[in-house]
Amino acid sequence: MVSSIESSNNIKSNSFSHSAGRWAWSFLMIVTITGCENGEVNTPTICLSFDDNYVNEWVELLPLLDEYDAKVTFFVCRLGEYSDREKDSLRKLIDHGHEIGAHGEMHVSVNQYIKSHGIFSYLRNEIQSNVDQIKQYGVTPRFFALPYGEHNKMVNLLLWFKFEGIRDVIPTSSYENALIDSSINKWISRFWVGSLELDNGNFNTIPWKNIVKNVTDNETRFLVHLHKVGDGDAYELSEERFRLLLQWGKDNGFKFSRFGDVF
Ligand SMILES: [Zn+2]
Repeated sequence: MVSSIESSNNIKSNSFSHSAGRWAWSFLMIVTITGCENGEVNTPTICLSFDDNYVNEWVELLPLLDEYDAKVTFFVCRLGEYSDREKDSLRKLIDHGHEIGAHGEMHVSVNQYIKSHGIFSYLRNEIQSNVDQIKQYGVTPRFFALPYGEHNKMVNLLLWFKFEGIRDVIPTSSYENALIDSSINKWISRFWVGSLELDNGNFNTIPWKNIVKNVTDNETRFLVHLHKVGDGDAYELSEERFRLLLQWGKDNGFKFSRFGDVF
């Protein structure tokens, strides 16, 4: 199968003030505590994650994930708009032992939103609202995935203090040149790490062999994220290719882990 993958080429202001206090407190903790390094990874690991709000589709993947003993991280958005069915689906994902991360409640362009609404509105309605929605399911999200991989320096800094880690997106040019770097930019107990966005449009351009070598030689992690299973080019990966990805990982002795397992 190795050859197969290689050849198939709303939050009120008082609650926000409270959360702002928590953010400031987190900041103080971070500058006070040093040396909180997490443990080394001994098994080559794939951190597979899924983005956005396709919870009903993701629930259909549970048997396949179980088959490969894969635990993954779902970065979710727009929970305030969930139907009853979607709420049930999210609970099923959690009950199966998968991890839930934050991905912005509105899932908007950070720079465009701030330009028209300001940064405090962004922090309240995009970030804190998302965290509070997730908490209603009994989960406190430890990690945040940047919507669209878009950056804003001030927001980046605040996210850095609020979450244990930020998942960014690896630029296409990097993986086309096989420069997938699994190293982690870590400062004290926080990390910032890039993930490969995989879909039908780029599946055949991924340097799978180089990734195996890099991850195996360095006993490190390969971060890859999807949106949903389907046959479209962008933001979808066919079921056949999704299975190939899982089989490729298994054949190469990789463990599929949640962010919280390795960071
Ligand atoms: Zn997204």
